[in-house]
Amino acid sequence: MDCPKCDGELETKNVAEEVNVDQCNRCYGLFVPPGTTTKLLAIWGPDTNVDTGSESLGKKFDSVDDIDCPKCKVKTDKIEDQAQPHIWIESCAVCGSTFYDAGELTDLSEKTLSDFFKRFLKGTRT
Ligand SMILES: [Zn+2]
Ligand SMILES: [Zn+2]
Repeated sequence: MDCPKCDGELETKNVAEEVNVDQCNRCYGLFVPPGTTTKLLAIWGPDTNVDTGSESLGKKFDSVDDIDCPKCKVKTDKIEDQAQPHIWIESCAVCGSTFYDAGELTDLSEKTLSDFFKRFLKGTRT
């Protein structure tokens, strides 16, 4: 598939069993099928970190908006992550897939982890 952000190609990466994402070989953007983001974040670690692009690269391509879903060829919706308003995620209303710029998924995983540790701390105190 063609990358919706640049003229790179999306290549399928197998992260874990039944967890596949498509990553652009140029801007390192990630095209994630519906439901896979949660799975990815649940198993997030050094071996499963697919977000290999640098954050500065992601920022550069973040300015490219109004992208089309590479699968359905329809315009994606922009969704703001409520926990991190600086992250704008492009999501396709037809197939439910999400496009993350390089660095965005790492941002999300850090947020999720810190939430996890907050809960953990709370649990030990009571
Ligand atoms: Zn790209
Ligand atoms: Zn789509």
